[in-house]
Amino acid sequence: MSSAAAARPVQLAGPDDTAGALAALARLLADGVPPEAVHWHDGVASQGGLFDTEPDTGAAAGPEHHGALPGPPPRLQAEALALLRQVLLHDDPGRFVQVHRLAQRLHADARHWLDRLHPERLALERMAREVRREIHKMHAFVRFRPVQAPGDDAVRHVAWFEPAHHVVRAAAPFFQHRFAAMHWAILTPRGSVAWDRQALRHGPPARREDAPPPDAGEALWLAYYRSIFNPARTKPAMMRREMPVRFWRNLPEAAAIAPLLRDASLRTGGMLAHAADTGRRLPRTVPAEAALAPGTPAAGSRIHLRTLAADAARCQACPAEGRAARTVFGRGATGAALMLVGEQPGDQEDQTGRPFTGAAGQWLQRAIATLGWPLDRLYVTNAVKHFHFSLRGQRRLHKTPAQQAVAACLGWLEAEIAAVNPVAIVALGQTAAQALLGDAAPPPTAGASLRRSDGRLVHVLPHPASLLRAGHAPDSAAASAWLARLAAAWPAPPGAPLPPA
Ligand code: URA
Repeated sequence: MSSAAAARPVQLAGPDDTAGALAALARLLADGVPPEAVHWHDGVASQGGLFDTEPDTGAAAGPEHHGALPGPPPRLQAEALALLRQVLLHDDPGRFVQVHRLAQRLHADARHWLDRLHPERLALERMAREVRREIHKMHAFVRFRPVQAPGDDAVRHVAWFEPAHHVVRAAAPFFQHRFAAMHWAILTPRGSVAWDRQALRHGPPARREDAPPPDAGEALWLAYYRSIFNPARTKPAMMRREMPVRFWRNLPEAAAIAPLLRDASLRTGGMLAHAADTGRRLPRTVPAEAALAPGTPAAGSRIHLRTLAADAARCQACPAEGRAARTVFGRGATGAALMLVGEQPGDQEDQTGRPFTGAAGQWLQRAIATLGWPLDRLYVTNAVKHFHFSLRGQRRLHKTPAQQAVAACLGWLEAEIAAVNPVAIVALGQTAAQALLGDAAPPPTAGASLRRSDGRLVHVLPHPASLLRAGHAPDSAAASAWLARLAAAWPAPPGAPLPPA
C-alpha cells in the first residue's frame, strides 16, 4: 500500500489512553489496515513516517478520536490483551506499531500466541516488564511532603516524581488505597493525579517547581529512614539496582545514604555489642531472609525502635492546638507475634507516657491476662501518638483525632511495623483500622480481617473504650464475644503457615 494515500490517523486522548488505543486497534484490524499505514497521535509522540503530518481534522478522512469514544478492544486472548495494555504505557513511540503487529498476527491466527519465542513477542514482553517495574518503582519511591496553605486547615501531601514510562494512571490506585485518609497529589512531567478522599482526579503534566521544597515532613521521613537503615543487611550494589540513581535526586533519604553507608561498620559493631548486652546472641553474618521473617526480631531493631521513639518525641507534624505536648510511643517486643494498635493515648496515657494504661487499657490488659498471651510476644501502640482533647473547665476530654493527625502519624506507625516486624496486627477501632488499611478498612463491628500489601493480616475489632462506653461489664456476653475475636487474632507460631485471610 502506498502510505501517503492510505494513511490512517488515530488521535488518542493522551499517551496513556490504552482504552482508546485498543478500540482503535480493533477497528484497524477489522478494516485490514496494515501497521505501517497508521499515524498514531498520542499528544506526545507521533509516528508513521519521517514527514509525519498533524492528524487530519477534515470530515472526510478525520482521525479516529478513540480517547473520546472508546469502543471494545480487539477480540484477542485475555493474556495477549493484558500484555498489550502494559506495552501501551511504555515510553517508546514505536510501541503502537509493535502492538499492532502482534495484534495483526493473532487476529489472523490465534495460534501465533503459542510462539512465545517470536522476536516481536519477546520485545513486547521486555517492554511490559519495564512498565511493571516502573509502576513498582513509583509505588516505592514517591515521597509526599506536607503543605498547608494559609487559612486552610487541611494539610495536603504533594509529591514530585519522574516516571520513565506513562504509568501515573496505572500506579494511582495503590496510593488511593494506601493513603485513603490523606489529601494528596502526585505531580509528574507525564501528568498529575490528586486524591481528595473521595475521588482520583487526573490532570496535566507538571513542572518540578510546582512541587513543594524540602520541609519538616521530609525531616520526619529522614528520621524514619535512618532508623530502619540496617547496616548489617546493606548491600550497596543491590541498593543501586533496586533504587536506580535516576530516582535519587527526588529522594530525601538519598542524601543520607552515603554517610549511613560510611558509618555502617561502626553501627553494625554497635548492634552486635548491644545484642551481647541484652544476652541475645546474633550470628556474625545475619542471614537476611531469616531476619525478615515476620515475628522475628531483625538485627538492631531494638535500637531502631529507640531511635524512632526519640525522633517521634520531637515530632510537630500535626497542629499543636488541642493536643497534649507529650508523644506516647508504642511499647513492647521487637519481633512480636502480634501488634495491637489503638486510636490515640488518653489523659492517663499522656501522664504515664505509656499506651493503654487508663480504663480502656486496663480492660485490654485484663483480656491479655485472661488469654494468657506472653507479654514478650506483644507490641502495643496507637495510630496517633498525641492525646487530642477538648477542655471542659480543668478537664481534658477525649476528642477523636482529625484525619490530619492520623495522616501526620502514619509514618511513625509504619516505621513501628517495619521495626517490630509482627506476624499480624489487631486494629482496635475505626481510626486504627483506617490508618492500617486505608479505605479498605471494614467497620470494627463487621468481625473482618484483611491482609495488607505487606502480607500482614489485620484483625479489626471494636475499641475496648466503646465497650466501656456502652456499659458492657467484663463478664457480659458482648465482652465475651469481643474476647473470643481477640483470641482468634493470635497468629500461628513463627514458621507455621499464616492463617487464611
Ligand atoms: N485508647 C487508645 O486507643 N489508646 C490508648 O493508649 C489508650 C486508650
